[in-house]
Amino acid sequence: MAFRFRLPSKLLHWLPNSQPSDLTWPSVLTTLVLNGVLVGYALLAPLTPEVKRVNLGFGLGGWVLTCMAFRWIFPHSRTRLIMYLGLILNALIILLAFYFHTVLLPGYTTVLGITLIILTAVLYGRRATYGLFATVTLAATGLYAMGWLHVKNLWQQAMLFFLTSVLLTETVLRLRQSYLQQLAHLNTLNRAAEALASTIEYHQVINVACSLVQEALQADAYYLGLVYGDRMRLELIYDQGEFFPPTEISLEDTLVTHVIHQGKPLLIHDMEIERCKYKKQVRYVGQPRMSQSWLGVPMIVGGKVIGAIVIASYRKHAFTARDLWLLENLARQTALAIENARHHLKVEERARLDSLTQVLNHNAFLEVLERELAQARVLGSPLSLIMLDVDHFKEYNDTFGHLLGDQVLQLIIETVRRHIKRTDWVGRWGGEEFAVALPNTTGAQAYQVAQRIRETLRQVHVSDRTGNPVALPTVSQGIAVFPGEASEVSGLIDLADQRLYRAKSRGRDQIEPGPRHWGVEGDAEFSVAPAEPKRDTAKVPIKTH
Ligand code: GH3
Ligand code: MG
Ligand code: MG
Repeated sequence: MAFRFRLPSKLLHWLPNSQPSDLTWPSVLTTLVLNGVLVGYALLAPLTPEVKRVNLGFGLGGWVLTCMAFRWIFPHSRTRLIMYLGLILNALIILLAFYFHTVLLPGYTTVLGITLIILTAVLYGRRATYGLFATVTLAATGLYAMGWLHVKNLWQQAMLFFLTSVLLTETVLRLRQSYLQQLAHLNTLNRAAEALASTIEYHQVINVACSLVQEALQADAYYLGLVYGDRMRLELIYDQGEFFPPTEISLEDTLVTHVIHQGKPLLIHDMEIERCKYKKQVRYVGQPRMSQSWLGVPMIVGGKVIGAIVIASYRKHAFTARDLWLLENLARQTALAIENARHHLKVEERARLDSLTQVLNHNAFLEVLERELAQARVLGSPLSLIMLDVDHFKEYNDTFGHLLGDQVLQLIIETVRRHIKRTDWVGRWGGEEFAVALPNTTGAQAYQVAQRIRETLRQVHVSDRTGNPVALPTVSQGIAVFPGEASEVSGLIDLADQRLYRAKSRGRDQIEPGPRHWGVEGDAEFSVAPAEPKRDTAKVPIKTH
């Protein structure tokens, strides 16, 4: 069973619980033991009363000073004033021990000197430690020259003390640096986890990830890329103080492709030498300038590489294995956050869509219409609304069944989509009634769209239960235009609705108002140029900007 030294809880409560104090534990314990030995030496050894007093004074004084320093000085060692006080105190203690070293317990001065050097290195760093050493040496030499200090072989002793101090200081400082770096990295990862968890919004996650990379690593340039099939979308590109707009690159044979395909990080210390090893193409992202150091790590979730984070520097050997470790961990957390945000986005999008036809549901369409109308008002452009209702659909359902009815609704939407632009919107208003918002479209243009939908529907057929072709039902449509006919969303919907029912009452399979109202030639309706290419019906019709 491993032995663990535990202090009584009362004492632990009294002791400061801070990082510098943790690091000073070994030195403090050594000093306490050393001074305890000194007190024992003073009490038990056959010494002259004067020597006894000096040893006892040092031992007890050492105890009190050590406890006071541990309780009140070390926890505040980052304060400048406390630091100078601590240094002066250390220098005085060493000099005093030097002064009395002939009567003190043999070896006491050396162990005390070494302990104080380690303590200074832990608490105040390299400069303070060598400063302390130089001060003590100079002062000791001065006292020696003035005849106040009697040391045998001063130079040999100083040389030994110097070598021991350098060895200890450098070892302690390297350990301290590595400890502090590790702590800083863990802090960064903690903050990263917190920051990434604070948002579920996809673009915010990417922004947070990039600012974390910028904060945590000293790089001249960085980007975050996400894989979409054989392409990669660089979401955020930063190069020497400048942000570049997102861009897409093909996953050809580049360094980042290597990282994606291998699913492993790649660290290049010197691009000129190491690039040939990978025989990859150079692709400039950001500034058209070759970086000298390059570090790319994959973003992996559930064993799948979803992208990569790349940092670069125009200096050689800019990144270390520690940077790689940190970036890998950041990438792991970012990948998880991105995947969560994507999932959330998907769920949100799904909640806005009608499950049968995959067009916007009633509420989502209203939201979009409000937004588009506000934009049209700002831009001073027209916006047309078409309300479309399937004619005698109840009868159609009764005759051919609801399953075929569902199929018909899907075909009608497919047809509508074929005749509208990417910037237009379709929504299911309810039942077999749909609404189409056409931003930047005049009444005449909307009429032509409605007419094309009506005509195309006439040519589409479905098969009934027995496999016989059945024509689609006809549709009635009502059109209204902002700002000419209505200035608000409610007025626009009302008018289009009224016109739709006028089209119904006039015998169905109609567009209301007719061509004359819009100034469209009766026979011009089919000579209109074809609309935008067919929209991919599998795509969710929601804008991401
Ligand atoms: P009108 O020409 O006056 O519009 O007559 P209609 O029969 O189309 O109108 P009505 O409002 O009387 O009936 C609408 C029908 O649409 C009734 C309902 O069964 C059908 N319907 C609504 N939603 C769906 C759906 O999702 N799938 C199917 N198959 N039918 C639907
Ligand atoms: Mg109907
Ligand atoms: Mg209806």
